[in-house]
Amino acid sequence: MLSQLKLVQPTTVHEASTALANFGDKAKVYAGGAELLLLLRHKLVEAEVLIDIKKITELNRLAADEQGIRIGACMTHQALADDLVVRRHAPAFADAESQVANARVRNQGTLGGNLCFNDPHSDPGTVLLVHNASLKVANYKGERQLPLEEFFQDMYATALRPNEILSEIQIPLLPESMTSVYLRLHRYQRPTLGVAAALTMANGSITACRLAVGCAGPKPLRLHDLERQLNGAPVADAPRIVEDHKDYLRGLLRPVDDLLGSADYKLYMTGVMLAQALRTAAQGNDNGLS
Ligand SMILES: Cc1cc2nc3c(=O)[nH]c(=O)nc-3n(C[C@H](O)[C@H](O)[C@H](O)COP(=O)(O)OP(=O)(O)OC[C@H]3O[C@@H](n4cnc5c(N)ncnc54)[C@H](O)[C@@H]3O)c2cc1C
Repeated sequence: MLSQLKLVQPTTVHEASTALANFGDKAKVYAGGAELLLLLRHKLVEAEVLIDIKKITELNRLAADEQGIRIGACMTHQALADDLVVRRHAPAFADAESQVANARVRNQGTLGGNLCFNDPHSDPGTVLLVHNASLKVANYKGERQLPLEEFFQDMYATALRPNEILSEIQIPLLPESMTSVYLRLHRYQRPTLGVAAALTMANGSITACRLAVGCAGPKPLRLHDLERQLNGAPVADAPRIVEDHKDYLRGLLRPVDDLLGSADYKLYMTGVMLAQALRTAAQGNDNGLS
């Protein structure tokens, strides 16, 4: 199958986007291929040309400064799970990356491919939401920035426009006093549910809180209303406050029945895991990564 495809290997994002524009619907962006090759093999997508973006140097770079970490879209899950800068400054994200699938997928799949495919049963997007991550996307005409929260639109749907390439994932550092955690529930390789929490505490109360849930419904989401209710509350009250927001969670997350669990199960476990994530984050980053 693959031998029948034309492979284009651009060395810049501009070249890649120009190739996409020239070949039109016949071309697909090809990063690690963990998803794309399966889709092609099962004839769920058709292509005559693969635009292999892995040779683009800027997509394989990682840089950090006092603002945060900038990750090239073609960095693999394993490289990010192992990276000392990521483990130090975004330990919950490194933890999420280390739990993706298995060693083969982690070494083949890229963070950019994961976010662009936007499979609802994914890990990194959920934890990147509590970092207020944003993305740099570009085509041959120029580039733009957008918050990750706006990038995820629906199941398998993103805000990428025609001929755009995701080039960089920007992860602002959490405030110094904020601790974070990512919890994942799974029976098979892909997660049934993922919950991320980041919080700051003072005298047993929550002074700042960020929460996100992935895999329950079509896309990962921040829980802004629940975060507001938790701000100022004693951490001991968090499980009750989460429980009181069951209808809010159902309406926001729109959990669906699928092969990984029923909607009711995912909703029930969302409450359990949010309470657990808040407790764990309140105790500090104790996941052994930092
Ligand atoms: C068996 C299996 C188990 C998995 N389990 C998990 C799991 O537990 N957790 C999890 O989070 N994920 C899981 N995944 C998903 C995996 O993480 C993704 O498949 C992988 O990260 C996709 O990256 P890729 O580079 O291989 O993308 P590709 O397959 O190359 O591309 C995927 C899609 O994104 C587009 N694309 C890729 N990069 C860009 C870019 N920079 N700009 C624009 N478009 C782009 C491609 O055109 C294609 O449509 C699993 C996948 C498999 C096959």
